[in-house]
Amino acid sequence: MTTSYLWTPPPVYSLPVRGSSDRLPIQRLFFVGRNYHAHAVEMGRPVDKSVEVPFYFTKAPSTLVESGATVAYPPGTKDYHHEMELVLAIGTAGFRVSEADAPSLIYGYACGLDMTRRDLQNDMKKQGRPWCIGKGFDDSAPIGPITPAAQAGDMAHMAQAAIWLQVNGQDRQRSRLDQLIWSVAETIAHLSNAWALQPGDLIYTGTPEGVGPVLAGDVLEAGIDGLASLRLRVA
Ligand code: MN
Repeated sequence: MTTSYLWTPPPVYSLPVRGSSDRLPIQRLFFVGRNYHAHAVEMGRPVDKSVEVPFYFTKAPSTLVESGATVAYPPGTKDYHHEMELVLAIGTAGFRVSEADAPSLIYGYACGLDMTRRDLQNDMKKQGRPWCIGKGFDDSAPIGPITPAAQAGDMAHMAQAAIWLQVNGQDRQRSRLDQLIWSVAETIAHLSNAWALQPGDLIYTGTPEGVGPVLAGDVLEAGIDGLASLRLRVA
């Protein structure tokens, strides 16, 4: 007997995979806060790794937007910011994994944007309230195709990769993955103590310095060496 629903259920959210006709089905979206020193400084809160641990927030899978899309300038903000990030796509379940085992959970990587309504985020921060309205809004998680880890190279190779974002052809963000405060392996190991990671979970690993506003009509192009790139237009 087939289940009947009151209305059409939401789709299975999924992303294209480079070199494959199969799409990667999505489970959850995790985001790491302040994970590059220079960005933590520009946000006014430097990180002392000896006494701090990473922190996280989430967005719904429905906030994903595929590369090549045009998104509307979001409502309620006058300060809509780009944050370019390396995204990890988990392919193997893991709970309380060690740093040594963490890389084996990764199916692949992508270029992602943690789009932010900065004015609303800052307002919530000041009031000690959750940031949700500044982060988890519609179309706030643009992402490029998944590049399988086997095509991207090992961790040591990945760490040397440049990460960059241009708006209308002008450099806005440019750094390297070895500038991550908590490495890919450290992030997965830490996050897996708080959530049992599942295949299809995406981890946006934080943004380097140079975040700033985008305006209607802007074209964003972003890349990480060795990964499929990301392009987005703001209507
Ligand atoms: Mn971010």
